[in-house]
Amino acid sequence: MNHNNFIVPHDRKIKIKDYDPGDTGEFHSKEEAAEKLLEGKEKLKKLQDVLYASNMYGILIIFQAMDAAGKDSTIKHVMSGVNPQGCQVFSFKAPSAEEHDHDFMWRCMKSMPEKGRIGIFNRSYYEEVLVVRVHPEWLEGQNLPPIKDYDKFWKTRFEDINNIEEYLTNNGIIILKFYLNITKEEQKKRFLKRIDTPEKNWKFSYNDVKEREYWDDYMKVYEETFNHTSTKHAPWYIIPANHKWYARSVVADIVISKLKELDLKYPKSTDEHKTDLTKAKEILETEE
Ligand code: ATP
Ligand code: MG
Repeated sequence: MNHNNFIVPHDRKIKIKDYDPGDTGEFHSKEEAAEKLLEGKEKLKKLQDVLYASNMYGILIIFQAMDAAGKDSTIKHVMSGVNPQGCQVFSFKAPSAEEHDHDFMWRCMKSMPEKGRIGIFNRSYYEEVLVVRVHPEWLEGQNLPPIKDYDKFWKTRFEDINNIEEYLTNNGIIILKFYLNITKEEQKKRFLKRIDTPEKNWKFSYNDVKEREYWDDYMKVYEETFNHTSTKHAPWYIIPANHKWYARSVVADIVISKLKELDLKYPKSTDEHKTDLTKAKEILETEE
């Protein structure tokens, strides 16, 4: 799979409309993709085991998307094979009063993956330059110093995010950022399905249709966010997500190749430890 089709380059501006949400790449059917995903899960399981044992890097995977784009189900499918002990998922909703009493990164910094772990953010600090930018009046609730120039304010937030991501990378946190790209039409289809299926009703909130009215504003702020914050060390990937099965395959493939790139090895035993192993073996084998 060629990941260049999905990555947002760090050195030139992109337009979201140039990324096709309906793309299915080399796959001709859902079944074909499911088979590939199954293989992928096995690979991921093994790679995660070495990641955990080597305890040197943490992997931060960020998911952002419009409602009903499939964040939850992508996380469920891609991570279903990995050892739960080495994986942490955090979902970020509208901030609480306590969270607003801190800087906007605070709640996310507390949730960063430990070394050896895969940490998943279902939404993230990026909401601070997305939903909050679509509704700038919400800044009033954030207990901030007075804002004189809004353009400068958002630019500073992008810079702060880039700086923090660079700092994390320097400290062994590998960052992957996925935007699940669906069309407005596909969102409507999925909302209607949530409304018409009693078992899916709980996933729908009336506010989702209200937020949908801001679709074009969201596309604008997403595009600006990608263009300001896709960096060499922490790239954005725009994942075609009108077909959930394709989105899952692509995300799994990108995570796998990133882990492979790290070329991790199981820790080697020291001579002292090897002597201990020999001694322990002898004790066990001569046990009455
Ligand atoms: P689903 O796709 O199942 O609806 P969800 O991620 O949309 O999942 P919700 O329970 O709808 O989950 O709540 C998330 C809401 O919280 C989103 O509307 C999001 O924009 C909002 N949110 C997250 N972070 C912030 C933030 N920093 N400031 C304001 N709103 C935020
Ligand atoms: Mg929602």
